[in-house]
Amino acid sequence: SGRWAKAEAILMELEENCGTPTGKLRQVADAMTVEMHAGLASEGGSKLKMLISYVDNLPTGDEGVFYALDLGGTNFRALRVQLGGEERRVIKRESEVCSIPPHLMVGSSHELFDFIAAALAKFVATESEDFVLQPGRQRELGFTFSFPVRQISLASGILIKWTKGFLIEDAIGQDIVKELTKAMERVGLDMHVTALVNDTVGTLAGGRYNNPDVIAAVILGTGTNAAYVERANAIPKWQGLLPKSEEMFTSLVRVINMEWGNFQSSHIPLTEYDQSLDAESLNPGEQIFEKIISGMYLGEIVRRVLCRMAEEASFFGEDIPPKLRNPFILRIPDIAAMHHDTSADLKVVGSKLKDILEIPTCSLKMRKMIVEICDIVATRGARLAAAGILGILKKLGRDTVKEGGKQRSVIALDGGLFECYSEFRNCLMNTLKELLGEEVSESVTVEFSHDGSGIGAALIAASHSQYL
Ligand code: ADP
Repeated sequence: SGRWAKAEAILMELEENCGTPTGKLRQVADAMTVEMHAGLASEGGSKLKMLISYVDNLPTGDEGVFYALDLGGTNFRALRVQLGGEERRVIKRESEVCSIPPHLMVGSSHELFDFIAAALAKFVATESEDFVLQPGRQRELGFTFSFPVRQISLASGILIKWTKGFLIEDAIGQDIVKELTKAMERVGLDMHVTALVNDTVGTLAGGRYNNPDVIAAVILGTGTNAAYVERANAIPKWQGLLPKSEEMFTSLVRVINMEWGNFQSSHIPLTEYDQSLDAESLNPGEQIFEKIISGMYLGEIVRRVLCRMAEEASFFGEDIPPKLRNPFILRIPDIAAMHHDTSADLKVVGSKLKDILEIPTCSLKMRKMIVEICDIVATRGARLAAAGILGILKKLGRDTVKEGGKQRSVIALDGGLFECYSEFRNCLMNTLKELLGEEVSESVTVEFSHDGSGIGAALIAASHSQYL
């Protein structure tokens, strides 16, 4: 019928507009490399902020209990590790996840940090005898804060802007460590914030602790971002900041937090759905790469496609299912579940439509089409993420085989999207192989680093302890 043909036309148009042929991905990777250079050359020189972290030396020999707090998106995690020195490493770890009530994500700084500090105090109260605080010491914390921050020292950083659905005006321009410290004082928690790190930087540190070949970390969760290890003399904007006398004492490498979620390039395939999603978001015009790749947005893109099919092709019948009008009603675990549905009659798709959108019946043909939409949207995201990784490898000259080289490059990956969405993960890995070719692929490994950012932050706190 005419309706069906219209729905198919919308689907075909989506597929066409989301296309990521290899050539296009290479252009995206090249653009990423160019922007990395520009962002390193000068402050504000690129959409990529290329923030210089204060992390250089990474720990191996520290002992005792250290804490980490990871504030990244929907949840925050409190974690403690007992370090046993060079030999015994991480002896024990415990963590607790707590979800952030949505009203606190758009409220005041005071309220958000009070909530976090109170939860942390509760967690500290459950510390067992397996964790040993060295006598006379205050507990120390590495704070993983996954929003763009300009740091002027390891234990301070000014919030540049919020992303991922947070908008707390009075925190912008504030020192995030001070905000947390004041809240800890208010709830009577005796703890010292030793390090402020981005989650990518934490993941990189945690990854390198286990494997020195780790050269970059990528987060694919609620949002997306990447960090990598750069040579100090390849960071012109930093050289300028350094007094000459200090230059010789500082180490030769720095961890750069790319803030790649804000990457933008004319080579990125964008659709009308992306454009309207962006226009109606809390941060229009920003975080375009993030908005087509990460967990927070993929379901919303799918919803917008379904909405258009309902409106223009009466896909769900004469009436548009009212629930389909709710922004962000389709969450990424639902998208993954539908995409992963292997039953002959696509049972999972049917039950998701019923439970979430209150659509009572849906033919097999329609279900197949919905899976197709999920596949198109997730594939574009995964392939673009792979192109981003190629961009980093290119910047480091690790996208080719070196003469007689035994050089290995390991990328540490963390985040719920990569962990739980196997179609997305497999597509990313296959695309990276496709882009690198057989031979180079053998020297590049993608490693899942579970909770790497939290452990990394605790390790950075340990190696920069106020008592050292
Ligand atoms: P964050 O990015 O919020 O710091 P996580 O690394 O814990 O955190 O990732 C959580 C995110 O992972 C969720 O917001 C969601 O986007 C994504 N996610 C969670 N579960 C799934 C799933 N089953 N399939 C796909 N993505 C998921």
